[in-house]
Amino acid sequence: MVRLNCKDYGYDCQFVAQGEDISQVIEKFGKHTLDEHGIEYSKEGLMQFILRQ
Ligand SMILES: [Zn+2]
Repeated sequence: MVRLNCKDYGYDCQFVAQGEDISQVIEKFGKHTLDEHGIEYSKEGLMQFILRQ
């Protein structure tokens, strides 16, 4: 299970992207940060977030 918590990246936000498929989680989280916070992370950057957990 892969999990990215929005609040872990400095946002006051309860959004959590999770799933078995890393690229799906990255896509969900990336779409959320762009739509809700106006920040676009690269897929490589988000991959680093996951690998560092
Ligand atoms: Zn958020």
